[in-house]
Amino acid sequence: MKWKKYISIAAVIFLMTITLACRHSEDIDSVPKETTEDTLAEENYEDNHSLEETEDEEEAVYPEMTESDFKALEVNEMGQVMVLMYHHIREPEAEWSRTPENFREDLKNLYEANYRPIRLEDYATGNINTPAGKTPVVLTFDDGNQNNFNMIEDETGEWIIDPDSAVGILMEFHEKHPDFMPHATFFINGGTPFGQADWVDYKLNFLVENGMDIGNHTETHRHLGDVDADTLQRELGRIVQLVQKYVPDYEVNTFALPFGSRPQNEALWNYLVSGEFEDVSYHHVAVLEVGWDPYHSPYHKNFDGSAIRRVRASETKVDGVGMYDWMNAFEKGSRHRFISDGNPEKIVVPESFSENINPERSENELFIYHHQ
Ligand SMILES: [Zn+2]
Repeated sequence: MKWKKYISIAAVIFLMTITLACRHSEDIDSVPKETTEDTLAEENYEDNHSLEETEDEEEAVYPEMTESDFKALEVNEMGQVMVLMYHHIREPEAEWSRTPENFREDLKNLYEANYRPIRLEDYATGNINTPAGKTPVVLTFDDGNQNNFNMIEDETGEWIIDPDSAVGILMEFHEKHPDFMPHATFFINGGTPFGQADWVDYKLNFLVENGMDIGNHTETHRHLGDVDADTLQRELGRIVQLVQKYVPDYEVNTFALPFGSRPQNEALWNYLVSGEFEDVSYHHVAVLEVGWDPYHSPYHKNFDGSAIRRVRASETKVDGVGMYDWMNAFEKGSRHRFISDGNPEKIVVPESFSENINPERSENELFIYHHQ
């Protein structure tokens, strides 16, 4: 399968880029480029262009954009982002279940309305590599249900990914629409994530190798209202241990609060973000709530990575705050969506939105334009 090769090559380049660009962005200009990296990048030039996230590999990849381009595309990197929340993918449609058919429809509707998935980590850290004119969207799935990632035996006796499971649907959609990456975060609990004990190793590695992420949802999915510091760190640390057993180099750095619950004792909230348990430690760049609306641009002064709100990806009992309500609000202009300039190193904002820019986001070049 071609995409497998592309993705693994891209992942290597992407990781190298991230290491340089994200963690030490202030030093990037002083880091000499390795010859091997340049050669590799050149050899895979075509490959890179088929994958949006490698576009930050070289300066030359970004098209030179003018103020009139920004106006024409209505670029607004202070607009909002939907972090969509799914649970089950199964029949019948219900409050916490989306049918496979409706999930396919959601992806199609997002695609046609110019939304493109990005990794939660990239959203939370402001590394928005979404192509120019498109809006980033984050897909999340809670609870590690088997219908999120199911293996079945086909007529020939071969084991395949269930085409009606979330991962099967995402991969199929990506094959048809290569510019719609299968980025999604699966928040798992302890025990046997996605069921099927024999397949846990395969599934967790498949996710990571294909641009998807594994997030923390606590070991026992307990309500966190009355936890103490030790319990909280154990609940989170055990998931890190579980994931490291199968994917040793993978860092679990995102967390969805079970039931959207937080400790009543606010002094413990720092343990939602980082902590230690036995031989492991964790640091979350994103802590996700349950409700209810699109959240700030990562460059907005009120963006808080430890309290990111999500949008219910459903049409059942959503009380006017489901994904289609917000897509309509963006369409009508009662809310403003993030529209990328295509360059993760540059923040492009219409003047009327500029007052909310986080002044500490200065490592990225800022461009404010007049849109009237
Ligand atoms: Zn849950």
